[in-house]
Amino acid sequence: VTGRVFLVGAGPGAPDLLTLRAARLLAGADIVFHDALVHPDTLALADRAEKVAVGKRCGRHSTAQAFINKRLVDAARKHTVVVRLKGGDPTLFGRAQEEIDALRAAGIPFEVVPGVTAALAAAAELGVSLTRRGVSRNVAFATPRVGDGEAASDWVAAIAAADIGAIYMGVGEAAAIADALLARGKRPSLPVVAVENASLPGARRWTTTLGELTRLADEAFAGPVVLLLGEALAAAPADSDRVRTAFLETAEAHLLRAAV
Ligand code: SAH
Repeated sequence: VTGRVFLVGAGPGAPDLLTLRAARLLAGADIVFHDALVHPDTLALADRAEKVAVGKRCGRHSTAQAFINKRLVDAARKHTVVVRLKGGDPTLFGRAQEEIDALRAAGIPFEVVPGVTAALAAAAELGVSLTRRGVSRNVAFATPRVGDGEAASDWVAAIAAADIGAIYMGVGEAAAIADALLARGKRPSLPVVAVENASLPGARRWTTTLGELTRLADEAFAGPVVLLLGEALAAAPADSDRVRTAFLETAEAHLLRAAV
């Protein structure tokens, strides 16, 4: 057999933010290679499939990309429907092109099924429009994170120029991001919102400004976080009590540390 490989977006986390196309493919899949962040209820849709976790999460052991590529090719020679399930949209920060290149080189047919990316789930969480007449008419997706042999990308310039910047995998480098953007002339009062676990029941947000962004370095984030920056974020509603508590705890942690 030569099967077909579907690079499928699982969405931002909530299982009901999956596309119908993705759900149907999962139901018909023979084998599913999935990321660590994919919700168990989403995986449960693939009830007849063998499930293989190949996820990469910051700081944890990751399956080498070349090995994932090879497993996809091998699987397509054994199975009819192979699903490669990735968080959010497969074509954003998911190393999809490496998998696509490997499949093409091996002559394996493939299709990409888009998904709801984290930045869009975060905007939904906040109840703000990413574009807004007179305020915002472009959005840049960027990450400060670089892999081996990656081409230089002036992501700072892109974010500095954007009406809205969405920064993935950036929370650990919040201080460096703030410095870089301030050095580009962005003003310290620029609204920034960090959204953790967008679309999931444990979603949290930190509403801050570019000048105060460094404080995020002291937060303990358990889930994935996306940063949204831009004037349009000024419309994000006031933080919930839970978020205020989180900030209070940070302030207390600072005081404690200072006292020790
Ligand atoms: N392809 C994915 C992104 C993969 S990179 C997508 O389109 O969303 C992983 C990064 O995505 C995380 O470090 C975080 O920045 C972001 N992310 C993924 N899921 C998220 C969620 N539910 N809430 C907030 N950020 C999320």
